[in-house]
Amino acid sequence: MSRVLVIGCGGVAQVAIKKCCQNSAVFTELCIASRTKSKCDALKAEMEGKTSTVITTAEVDADKAENVVALIKEYKPDAVLNVALPYQDLAIMDACLECGVHYIDTANYEPEDTDDPKWRAIYEKRCEEKGFSAYFDYSWQWAYDERFKEAGLTALLGTGFDPGVTSVFTAYAKKHYFDEIHTIDILDCNGGDHGYPFATNFNPEINLREVSAPGSYMEDGRWIEIPAMSIKREYDFPEVGKKDMYLLHHEEIEALGRNFPEVKRIRFFMTFGQSYLTHMTCLENVGMLSTTPINFNGQEIVPIQFLKALLPDPASLGPRTVGKTNIGCIFTGIKDGKERTIYIYNVCDHQACYRELGSQAISYTTGVPAMIGTALVVSGVWDKRGALTTDEFDPDPYMAMLNEYGLPWVVDEAPATVE
Ligand code: NDP
Repeated sequence: MSRVLVIGCGGVAQVAIKKCCQNSAVFTELCIASRTKSKCDALKAEMEGKTSTVITTAEVDADKAENVVALIKEYKPDAVLNVALPYQDLAIMDACLECGVHYIDTANYEPEDTDDPKWRAIYEKRCEEKGFSAYFDYSWQWAYDERFKEAGLTALLGTGFDPGVTSVFTAYAKKHYFDEIHTIDILDCNGGDHGYPFATNFNPEINLREVSAPGSYMEDGRWIEIPAMSIKREYDFPEVGKKDMYLLHHEEIEALGRNFPEVKRIRFFMTFGQSYLTHMTCLENVGMLSTTPINFNGQEIVPIQFLKALLPDPASLGPRTVGKTNIGCIFTGIKDGKERTIYIYNVCDHQACYRELGSQAISYTTGVPAMIGTALVVSGVWDKRGALTTDEFDPDPYMAMLNEYGLPWVVDEAPATVE
């Protein structure tokens, strides 16, 4: 029995909330709060009569901690699930600490304004010290670890699919399949087709920032950075087929590198079609991915936000997307003195997700783990305190819930590896 405040009502939030409603023994009461309250009201109306979870709604601008504090004080939840944007992570964490409630999210903090001189100075120092230049990293949220511990609270960071499930797959591989893991290749394949020449599967601003940035991977505890999209491989994905994939920087590499220091190399690959890459390069070349405001006809416009307004809403891709995703991790290492390689993965069908919840598979594969992480924290099954990633807990209950709530996984003990 729990009372949870969900912040955000976009593509991922809608799946997470519907999945909470399927698990109403744990989620007895939910408050859906977002910047645009009408979206929360529409979702509440859609769920009427379909669940015993009691739903209320609220308007909140989570950019300011004091707004979130006021709402938490009014609603008195046991935990806050942040499925808004990474920009709001720190404000919501501050509010949770102030009010003494658990915090859960799906993506690590990054600033909205990357030209802010205060943030930029810390960022540039980090780039130099750590060796990767992504705008997001865990340092901001790991800095809350002691305060959450002292307050007896859990901040569960990054419980989406990647990060989230991929980190749980790693803990599961270590617990059941390896004495030592030597390499991890995280593969994210979206074999879905939405029929548009160009669209992103989740928030366009966050998505385009991520994929247009330099790639990086970890080897022997050090970061190696490469120009964007400069390492390409082909992989034959079970149930999807052959796809080109590119090495990207991704946030779970940082957490896995810290928490599994024996791993010699950790890489992340994502599949992209040629049309997506051509559009992205062109948009970048003309300045449409910039986060720096420009003045247009007397009005200040942030180019990437303007682009977001032009692109299809990711939450609207559900009815038109066909095909499957295959996301997982290839592990190599040693068990009982013998070399071993396994691929743990999930295959998710876009149309099956749409039939069940009205969403495409990217929102689905993120929203289901957001519900699972929240359920494990509020029910006390995951009861460590501090600011922690999903690989730091017992993977078994999470893996069981993936099977139960629509993301069944497979362990292939003889997979192809990535060169
Ligand atoms: P959307 O853009 O679809 O939804 C974002 C929601 O947050 C909207 O409802 C928006 O409100 C709301 N919001 C934005 N700013 C504020 C604010 N200041 N205060 C309150 N609410 C706000 O994003 P997605 O659902 O696609 O993504 C949600 C999160 O999931 C992101 O953090 C993303 O990075 C993460 N993600 C994680 C993945 C993983 O595997 N770990 C994969 C995919 C996404 P409004 O309607 O007014 O715009």
